[in-house]
Order: sequence, then structure tokens, then C-alpha cells
Amino acid sequence: MTLPWIIAGAAVGVISGPRIRASVFSRSTEPGQPPCHACPACTEEILPDRWRWRALLPVTGRCPSCRARIGPHPLLAELAAGLALAVVAARASSVWELAALAWLVLLAVPLAFIDVAVRRLPDPLTATAFAGTLALLAVTALADHQPGHLGRAAIGAVILACFYLVLSVIRPGGLGLGDAKLAASAGAALGWISWQALLSGTFATFTLAAVYGGAQLALHRATRTSQLPLGPFIILGTLAAIAL
Ligand SMILES: [Zn+2]
Repeated sequence: MTLPWIIAGAAVGVISGPRIRASVFSRSTEPGQPPCHACPACTEEILPDRWRWRALLPVTGRCPSCRARIGPHPLLAELAAGLALAVVAARASSVWELAALAWLVLLAVPLAFIDVAVRRLPDPLTATAFAGTLALLAVTALADHQPGHLGRAAIGAVILACFYLVLSVIRPGGLGLGDAKLAASAGAALGWISWQALLSGTFATFTLAAVYGGAQLALHRATRTSQLPLGPFIILGTLAAIAL
């Protein structure tokens, strides 16, 4: 797509920051716990109970009431979403394809932050990411007359989800079901582009995770038994393959 689309993509990402922050804050809870509404420091209700999709948190990353740190660092969510949307806008070949990839990015960015914070990928977000991405890819296939791409996306989703599922069985604790559910969305997006992208995206995911894990070991910030959240690497690897 052209430069104005890339700039528009980046702008949408930056504008989505406060919404992404609210999602990260409310979903960064332990398994089985309900979404969080109140500031842990001052217990003030900072997110509405209803209309949660409209909830916003300031870009400062601080509680509006007591100024305690909540959620991602200042401007970090905005920067991540802006960059990721600019990348997919540069790669997308039609408006519908951009809509599908943007949907995935706008759910993948909060998922990455939540995985870093609490080492989990909540079902409501991974399920919404997958359903929306696949539905929008189906519309793209119809609008752009690319039925073959949709078939590849569906097979890509199954292949990548099964691959991570098998890994989670072989190495329980190393990665979980959430990773397999996120991998279904990544597989759909990568499969849509090409088989080559599916391969290189998966390769990039594990390379990035290995490099990061190795650096953490070298810096004595982790031990061999430490677990690292894989979600952000699935997202980064997928974005890298989309960009190339
Ligand atoms: Zn507070």
C-alpha cells in the first residue's frame, strides 16, 4: 500500500494506545480471576463495569487517581501498535487485507503485553483475534477474488496451532495452550501470504526467542529452567515475516 496508508496505519495504532492499555490492565490477572477494574494501589474504580470496549487509560501509564504505575510504560503501547500497524499497512495489497491484518495486530499487541506481565494469553483475546482475522480474510478472498489464499490461511492456522499444541505436550510448562491459540491466528495471517511466510515466520519466532533467552542467560537475568513468554515472539516473528 502507499505512504498515506502507512501513515494512517501508524496513526490508528498510536490512537489505539489508551484502549490497548485498558485491555492490558483489565486482563493482566491470574488464571480464573475476573478482569480487573480498580487500581491496585488506591482501589479507585478506573475502568467501567459495562461498555468495557470503550474503556481507556492515559498514555502516561499511570492511575488517573493516585498516579501509581499501571500497565505498559508511557507511550510504549502506542509505539508498539503504531509500528506494527505501519508494517502491515506497508505489506497489505488491498483495504480488506489491511483490515484483516490490522484486526490481528490490534489484539496481538495487548496480548504481548499481558503475556509479559502475567505469562498468559487470555482466551477472550486469542479467540476474538482468530475469529475476526479469519472472517476478514474470508471477506478479502471474496472481494479480491483470491479463494486460494483463504484455503492456505485455513490450513496455515491448523498447521501452526497443531505444531504448538504438540510442543506444549512434549514440553509442558515451556509453552501453553494460549500459545497454540495465538498461533492459529498467526498461522492464518502467514498462510494467507504464502507457505514461505508460514515457514519463515515460525523460524523467526524461535530464532528471536532463542536470541533473547540466550541474552538473558548471558546477563544472568535468567537460569536454564526459567520460562520466557512465547506470545511476544510469535507476534514479532509473524510481523517480521509479513514485513519481508
Ligand atoms: Zn490509583
